[in-house]
Amino acid sequence: MSPKAEGVDARGLDASQAAAQPQASAFGGQFPVILSSPSGGGKTTIARELLGRRNDVGYSVSCTTRAPRAGEVDGRDYYFLSREEFIRRREAGDFAECAEVHGNLYGTLKSEISRVLATGKHVIMDIDVQGARQMRRSFVDSVTVFVLPPSGEVLLQRLKNRKTESPQQLIDRLNSALHELRAVEEYEYVVVNDDLALAVQRVGSILDAEVVSRERVAGLRHSVEALIARLEQEITHTSR
Ligand code: ADP
Ligand code: 5GP
Repeated sequence: MSPKAEGVDARGLDASQAAAQPQASAFGGQFPVILSSPSGGGKTTIARELLGRRNDVGYSVSCTTRAPRAGEVDGRDYYFLSREEFIRRREAGDFAECAEVHGNLYGTLKSEISRVLATGKHVIMDIDVQGARQMRRSFVDSVTVFVLPPSGEVLLQRLKNRKTESPQQLIDRLNSALHELRAVEEYEYVVVNDDLALAVQRVGSILDAEVVSRERVAGLRHSVEALIARLEQEITHTSR
């Protein structure tokens, strides 16, 4: 049983307070892990590496109206939707969050989050700062990680080397990068992506620490009460 089920959720709200509030993820001890960064910061690369190294994480495949890049596969990298289809699904209430980024629509399907959480895995989400704000409101137990490039020079170099954007698209992404960077203080964790292996290890350490954070330990109050009861019994028995 989670602390929330015992009456106090991750925000320390009791059941009556929480009733009027957004809910924590309705699955075991798994939670959404949100990675954001300016374009080229390395969140996709880090997410991919994590998925390859850990079997306790799954990826939330987002929907987008942008065109697929060379090598991108529908259903693996994104669900590529027409703008009309995206808007239809948004109106149907299918998205847990969605936002317009660099002139395209992006969104996380509620069904995608449930799919991953239901497999008993944490759900890694590579989303922008607007989406992270929405997720924090509706999934209060989300863990938010901002991935920072080691320097502006390195970011520009990585973006240019990736060769996935036209010069105009690059400018659009740099403009968005300014908004993303200004939101860094909204995130709980910051990982500098200089050495990739180290950055991946750090995100993994965040996950491991979050799993044992007091607020997430399943049945903590019950376990401690049982411990106390056993010790009290022993004290009473021995002092007779
Ligand atoms: P984002 O998803 O944040 O836009 P990507 O994961 O696509 O960024 O990374 C941008 C580019 O930088 C990619 O070409 C990727 O291979 C490269 N890259 C990411 N992290 C590192 C790193 N630590 N060292 C060197 N190159 C990196
Ligand atoms: P890209 O086009 O480079 O794959 O992604 C562009 C931006 O859209 C990145 O900042 C990425 O994090 C963001 N993004 C990708 N998927 C989603 C999503 O489902 N929701 C939101 N809000 N942003 C997303």
